[in-house]
This record gives sequence, structure tokens and C-alpha cells, in this order.
Amino acid sequence: MSEDNVRRAAEMLLQGATLLAQPCPYCSGVRVMKDGRALCSSCGSEPEKAPQTDPEPSVEQRVLGLTRQLGSTTDPALRQRIIEEITRLSDEMSPK
Ligand SMILES: [Zn+2]
Repeated sequence: MSEDNVRRAAEMLLQGATLLAQPCPYCSGVRVMKDGRALCSSCGSEPEKAPQTDPEPSVEQRVLGLTRQLGSTTDPALRQRIIEEITRLSDEMSPK
């Protein structure tokens, strides 16, 4: 798995991208989707427009995506940003 692609995927998640339910058709890797574009975090391919377009990803979806990305990210600074974003989103989910 290329660290560059993992980093790109993590950056996309931090910017509001969501994790795609369907794996990459080429390598079965985890894909993230933003603005109708799907990026594979394993091979870096951007095959086609995502089949299902969800313009308003739920907070739960974003937390799930970030949590999974955390598992494949080794960069300490990036991990810190992901953790901070998960914490922020978790605050949003908790009842006011
Ligand atoms: Zn792939």
C-alpha cells in the first residue's frame, strides 16, 4: 500500500469525504469519495464517478471513514489530525 495514497485518502476524509461501501474494482482496496470522485487508498485509481452519490454524508459515516483511515495511516501528524476530527465529530453527535 502506498503511503502517498493513504495520505491523500486521509486528507480527503478530513475535508469531508466519505468511505465508499464498495471496494476498489482493481485491488479491492478501501475507497473514499468526495465531490463525486472516488479515490482508492490502496492503488490510487480513480475509476469512475461513484455509483451512489450521497451529497450529505452523515456524521456517523464520516466518523466511520476516519476511524478506518486511522488504522492505515502511520504519519503521526496526520493521525493527530484525524483523531482531532473524530473528536470534533463525536461532539457533534452527542446530545446538546
Ligand atoms: Zn485500488
